[in-house]
Amino acid sequence: MGTACARHLAEAGHSVVLIGPEEPADPALFEGPFASHHDAGRITRILAHDADWARLSARSIARYGDIEARSGIGFYHPVGGMMAAPSAGPGAAFGDAFLGVAGTEGIAHDRLEGAALAARFPMFRFAPGTRAAWDPAGGWIDPRAMRRAEETLAIAAGARVLPDVAVARRDGRITLGSGEAVDAGEVVVATGAYAGMDALLPFRPAMEVYARTIAFVELAQREAAALAGMPTLIFVPEEQAHDLYLLPPIRYPDGRWLVKIGGEDDSPRLRTKPDMTRWFRGSGSAGAGRELLAALGRVMPGLPMERSFTGACAVAFTTTGKPYVARIAPGLTLLAGGNGAGAKCADELGRLGALVATGGDLADEGYGCDFRAVEDAAP
Ligand SMILES: Cc1cc2nc3c(=O)[nH]c(=O)nc-3n(C[C@H](O)[C@H](O)[C@H](O)COP(=O)(O)OP(=O)(O)OC[C@H]3O[C@@H](n4cnc5c(N)ncnc54)[C@H](O)[C@@H]3O)c2cc1C
Repeated sequence: MGTACARHLAEAGHSVVLIGPEEPADPALFEGPFASHHDAGRITRILAHDADWARLSARSIARYGDIEARSGIGFYHPVGGMMAAPSAGPGAAFGDAFLGVAGTEGIAHDRLEGAALAARFPMFRFAPGTRAAWDPAGGWIDPRAMRRAEETLAIAAGARVLPDVAVARRDGRITLGSGEAVDAGEVVVATGAYAGMDALLPFRPAMEVYARTIAFVELAQREAAALAGMPTLIFVPEEQAHDLYLLPPIRYPDGRWLVKIGGEDDSPRLRTKPDMTRWFRGSGSAGAGRELLAALGRVMPGLPMERSFTGACAVAFTTTGKPYVARIAPGLTLLAGGNGAGAKCADELGRLGALVATGGDLADEGYGCDFRAVEDAAP
């Protein structure tokens, strides 16, 4: 979000300094802050269980092509995005929600069930009665590359980037880990899951930060090629209430082809920076990893799963269920709270953050929610 915000501000003619650490070469040796976008794949889609999230994504996706073209950095892989849920049981409401939003928002999609679903996507096995929607604009983005593309455009528009950490803020003066200080008329704090943990804000925003585990299966290139046409998938297995997400084989920077699955009903909370560091230095929860791999084996029974491993990440859920994009003090804007879904729509969230930071108001931006920030009531 922060880098997209910097791009929108710089391209609007404002002088901008973007502050944030590079991704660590070895997380085990890194003191943080880590990030929730240090990965090669994030699902993108317009389909959503909520109209505002669908609009945030639709507007971002509509600008992907321009960002790629002008930066020269590709990140969008429109392989199709599918959502699927049972027609009865605890997961049915999720299906009602995304199909309802697809209808009211007029989102282009193919509605699939039964034999048509099985014929179109033979790699998946769903419970009888499963309802699915396939989104042609969906697929996956490389979040690292998207951030680099936004940064490239911000720099081209005059922004300065400091690969450093903000350790303190006093009004518009930001002190960095290097000891340098930056003075700015306006400050945007877009520190993701750390927003409630660092001393940059006058109050702790009400956010729950969850430690998340993801599971990967490594494929040989020919096995990956055999899954050409596989979309990204968000689905609710039978007899389960929470959704899981799945990405098709992606060639990771180390050359491996990996399928990734994630999604947990509940997981440990992270409250402090040391909590975050401990978690990100690990490889997630083995138990959660086993459950995810078992779910993967059920939805993709033909997938070779000899080589698998797990990883760690963190998501920040706000009490409103929407990102906080709000002025929280004179000269200070908060832009945080991806709710496990903020990568795909980071460009639009960055644009809204830029609007607020330059004194604008979001009331006429076409959203049902107001993106207000909520203070954590706990002392
Ligand atoms: C396992 C997993 C899977 C996900 N899958 C999806 C998906 O498929 N689709 C999707 O849309 N979203 C997905 N998300 C959510 C998405 O990644 C996040 O919503 C998004 O990354 C949030 O963006 P952000 O800019 O708020 O935070 P981040 O991406 O975490 O960026 C915050 C940045 O601030 C930096 N920072 C922190 N403190 C400081 C400081 N004091 N000074 C300077 N810099 C600081 C951090 O190092 C980091 O670079 C997933 C998240 C996880 C964890």
